[in-house]
Amino acid sequence: MGQHSNKPIDDTTERIERVSIKPTHTGPLSSTVDDAFVEKCQNILLAGSCGDALGKWTEFVPTLDAIESSWPGGLRGFDQVERRLHGAPPPYTDDTQMSLLVLHTLIKMRREQSDINLICTSLAEAFATTWLDDPQTPSRMPGNACLSASNLLRERLPARPDPAWWKAGAPGAGGCGAVMRAYPFALVYADQPEFAVRAAAEHGTITHGAALSSAATAAFVAGVLAGIHGKDCPAMVTAMVQAAETYDHETAAMIESAAAKGADPSITQSAVLGSDNSNPFPGQLRGWAGHEAIAAAAFLLARHGSDAEAAVVAGANTPGDSDSIASVAGVLSAAAGGVMPEKWRAVEGSGEIAQLVEEMISA
Ligand SMILES: [Mg+2]
Repeated sequence: MGQHSNKPIDDTTERIERVSIKPTHTGPLSSTVDDAFVEKCQNILLAGSCGDALGKWTEFVPTLDAIESSWPGGLRGFDQVERRLHGAPPPYTDDTQMSLLVLHTLIKMRREQSDINLICTSLAEAFATTWLDDPQTPSRMPGNACLSASNLLRERLPARPDPAWWKAGAPGAGGCGAVMRAYPFALVYADQPEFAVRAAAEHGTITHGAALSSAATAAFVAGVLAGIHGKDCPAMVTAMVQAAETYDHETAAMIESAAAKGADPSITQSAVLGSDNSNPFPGQLRGWAGHEAIAAAAFLLARHGSDAEAAVVAGANTPGDSDSIASVAGVLSAAAGGVMPEKWRAVEGSGEIAQLVEEMISA
């Protein structure tokens, strides 16, 4: 546990004061960004949903041998699952569904110049209403921590001035559900990185109360921001380690160690991300927990750099939480400058990405 472990604070006034931090920049994002930024945001959204939609097929396949027997040579593209799609676009799962809900909510929040408490209150309401009411949610394979916190919040609504969102996530909840949906903070608040990282970490506690989740969430957003602002992969990793350290030392150490292994070509992927999900040993990253997911993605970023397709494919071919690992790795690789080849535009929702980014920069 880090020195600033986010132990629950019961005093509502104290907590609200702590998160009544306002954005430092107002006005639309479009006044501070260029065409390259717009393109990068589009690539990030595409790579994130492709990793999710590819990893969906391997998430519950528990060994590399089992993946190999279904898809000889590994699962490398949507063409290999075409028969199972019955003509529909390859669907994404809860990772992208929740990320898009976060993105839509943040666009509105930026426009209204909301502070962190208001942002989190709105997100809590969105999870408890829009997300739970969405008839597609059950088939997106949502995580238990997200479901139970959202149901708890639903019982508290309508609640003013706030639904005590920071008490909804169980203190021990440390799955990767908060991490995977956090990257929109880096996009919508790209012009104010400190605010983006802090707001993202706070939002994680809506569903996940463990310090490792806050650390992993902060690290993800800090890494994406570093990439967006032109830093190379090692500098992105440094930003991730520093952001994680604020909340949890163990998470920071895991990211640093995984990235070092990713940069060492003598170390195989299966030595770090495993070959069998039922037989984990210390140091192997399965991605079910937030710190493992972000460390696994840091390994893939260090190994594949801005080759977003390679990062996504490698993330999908893992025995653990493949969709989240591939999605987070895809986002980081695209932030580093990666572009998914044209054929990946088959993924669900890709036709709406350009419009969504347009809406984002005018907010
Ligand atoms: Mg998922």
